[in-house]
Amino acid sequence: MNLLRLTATEALRRLADRELSSAELTGAYLEQMERCEGDISAYLHTDAEASRKAAAAVDASPGGGTLAGLPTAIKDVLCTRGIPTTCGSRMLEGFIPVYTATCVSRMEDAGIVSLGKTNMDEFAMGSSTENSAYGTTRNPWDTQRVPGGSSGGSAAAVAAGEALWALGTDTGGSIRQPASFCGVVGLKPTYGAVSRYGLVAFASSFDQVGPVTRSVRDAALMLRHLVGKDPLDSTSVEHPEAIADPVDRDLSGLRLGVVSELAGEGIEAGVNEVFREALARLQAAGAELGEASLPHVEYCIPAYYILAPAEASANLARFDGVRYGHRASGAGDVTEMYELTRSEGFGDEVKRRIMLGTYALSSGYYDAYYGQAQKVRSLVVGDFRAAFADYDLLLSPTTPTTAFRIGEKVDDPLSMYMSDVCTTPANLAGLPAISIPAGLSQGLPVGLQLFGPAFSENLLLQAAHSAESVLGFQAASPLVEELD
Ligand code: GLN
Repeated sequence: MNLLRLTATEALRRLADRELSSAELTGAYLEQMERCEGDISAYLHTDAEASRKAAAAVDASPGGGTLAGLPTAIKDVLCTRGIPTTCGSRMLEGFIPVYTATCVSRMEDAGIVSLGKTNMDEFAMGSSTENSAYGTTRNPWDTQRVPGGSSGGSAAAVAAGEALWALGTDTGGSIRQPASFCGVVGLKPTYGAVSRYGLVAFASSFDQVGPVTRSVRDAALMLRHLVGKDPLDSTSVEHPEAIADPVDRDLSGLRLGVVSELAGEGIEAGVNEVFREALARLQAAGAELGEASLPHVEYCIPAYYILAPAEASANLARFDGVRYGHRASGAGDVTEMYELTRSEGFGDEVKRRIMLGTYALSSGYYDAYYGQAQKVRSLVVGDFRAAFADYDLLLSPTTPTTAFRIGEKVDDPLSMYMSDVCTTPANLAGLPAISIPAGLSQGLPVGLQLFGPAFSENLLLQAAHSAESVLGFQAASPLVEELD
């Protein structure tokens, strides 16, 4: 039995039935990490000894929680008390948080075993994990290619069998885009559904924590543990529904709108082919398919790349060498210390965003850029509202291309930014969206994205679960398959 193929849901059942111990399961993951990390580099920090101990402790006291014994990877943008948290940046090299992010502590309270902290684009800015200050993560389907980003380490870990499941964060697509590139499931919850406390802020009005998993049921299982109001995050709210376990049923009666602006033009032929094929199968399984329109969707990338950097430029002001992490040496006075620290600590993309953001917020340009982009945001919210009057959920490919080659887009930020053309609309409107594997194009995974109205996670997960079984894609990269 290849333990690395188990879903979290299935592993949990076996653990409960004592067919499997957490020590065995965790051991299988640690072994795979030893085998593959040299090629994949999904992790920034691991502690095999601590993981083994945690697993043994779970085995020694059964009934330890609703996720007891499940080996889990955590994106390095989430603070973990006593454990390094770098956000993929030199700026936070050596930073050890004194508290744990709410989403992580909720999972810890439920008994997970941490496998470590995963690699990411610096401060979650990027679509390929190439912006990490600690080197690029590689795609388990083809190690010459990127895993996507910014949660590339989390998605690669799950796809490579180096984690059972993982926590990611999504500001403009950073869960769904890497999930799509790596052939796994990724869910961005409704804004406010999951606490951001302890998530190092990139763009506070966009950031959400969510699951990167091997199945939709696993995504529901993890999400159930993440949601809820947190007194430590005033933007979090109680989810109006308990997150349910999706059941096996067809798609009959479900009205699905294909976003015409995100399908066809601008989408790679191979991706489009897999997408069209998936649509035909969903229809055959009873879904009522129609064409939907989000007329302002073409402004999402420009608006996102004004608003997210604007918020980032404010959020990243705290990294000044005084309070956290890196401090430059040899400065003559405090101003020079700030300058040197920030010059040395931040990478190129982060600096680019800070400059874009401060420019967009400067008094002479505020109305022309920031104000205008906020208006676009309202229009996009309106577009979705209108579309959901006709459809239960909306569909698009998750990404316009499959995983691209390492180095292919690093010198072309605009083409890198276009990786998120299908994902940013959900972030601008604060809506939940999920990417599930739909098939392969030239041996590389293609993701199908479903968008839902705010707090429709149950509907979204149920539909995605049905779609997943209709599409029948077994999410296992060659690195897992070769152990069968
Ligand atoms: N790739 C997008 C960006 O660079 C989204 C990142 C994210 O969701 N964190 O901003």
